[in-house]
Amino acid sequence: FHQIVLRERPVAEILPNTFESKTKAFDELHVGKQQALVQITYLSLDPAMRGWLRDARSYLPPVKIGEVMRASGLGVVVSVGEGSKFKKGDLVLGSLGWTEFAVMNDGALTKISPPSGSTALDFLNTLGVPGLTAYFGLYDVGKLKAGETLVVSGAAGAVGSLVCQLGKRSGARVIGIAGAADKCAWLENDLGVEKCLNYKSPTFREDFRKTVGYLDVYFDNVGGEILDLALSRLKKNARVVLCGAISAYNSERPSGLMQYQSLIGQRAKIEGFIVLDYVKDYPRAIEEIATGLADGSIKRKFHIVDGLQNAPNALPMLFSGTNTGKLVVKVSDE
Ligand code: NDP
Repeated sequence: FHQIVLRERPVAEILPNTFESKTKAFDELHVGKQQALVQITYLSLDPAMRGWLRDARSYLPPVKIGEVMRASGLGVVVSVGEGSKFKKGDLVLGSLGWTEFAVMNDGALTKISPPSGSTALDFLNTLGVPGLTAYFGLYDVGKLKAGETLVVSGAAGAVGSLVCQLGKRSGARVIGIAGAADKCAWLENDLGVEKCLNYKSPTFREDFRKTVGYLDVYFDNVGGEILDLALSRLKKNARVVLCGAISAYNSERPSGLMQYQSLIGQRAKIEGFIVLDYVKDYPRAIEEIATGLADGSIKRKFHIVDGLQNAPNALPMLFSGTNTGKLVVKVSDE
């Protein structure tokens, strides 16, 4: 079966020689005590994966050269070792990696059963890391209140599109920022944001000032110049949620902020967070989001790329914005 390993650390963009494909024989696998052999069905492609390729201190260790690329995914248990709590056919979620099969410790797998109105794939999107990131970032870090003005960058993405919808549910005025007309049309017509601004438009800065006025919460997925612009438009006691900085993930030297002093004048807060710190609160968020999926009030989109061999070419789509919705790779049939 096939696996994809890290071959060379990219300096800027991910390149064709960043990863390489390997084959592994089934007889090299040993399913030990309290372990399960999983056949991978879908893998999630996330912007954070670019950070895992960097040999730098972060919230997780870097992927080593020659190691299977780390990725969260869904799979089906095909066999179990002695004393495993899983059984053949169980649907599981875990950090399975870019491989068709993986031997996993029981403790590294979560058994899932999709609630009514959801599918297994939702556990890589609104019921998984992106959804939980939106939820805890907006409520716990952003402390959004009804009537406030919320601005969301990366608004058409997996995290951003849920932030916009949760913001609307909370009674906020929501303005999204995205990089394509079709993404803006989806946000305005289907998700009901008040306005979506295209940051690639030559009049973007002016549009931002005119449309937003001043903001209470800025949910930042992109960093860079858009963050700086948002910092110049803070209301008193505004909160800036540092969720991601995708515009800088491929850069060796990210650019600095010019407008940070406005945090002082506006007595505003800027705060980074990592969703993994909220693990004990995941169930209540999942329940709430699942209810929205079931009654149709929460919408989501997927961009599915077929075949593990296409994962290395698909990952850069996140950085060119060619993904429309949560980007996943289909590895095998469910
Ligand atoms: P998305 O589905 O939003 O995909 C990435 C999108 O980012 C692209 O489609 C593109 O959309 C946009 N983008 C790419 N490059 C740029 C750029 N230079 N400037 C502006 N926008 C750009 O990914 P996710 O929803 O999975 O992730 C969104 C953010 O959330 C990421 O920054 C990620 O790292 C972060 N994150 C943080 C977590 C945490 O715990 N803090 C956990 C999970 C994710 P467009 O066409 O609009 O440009």
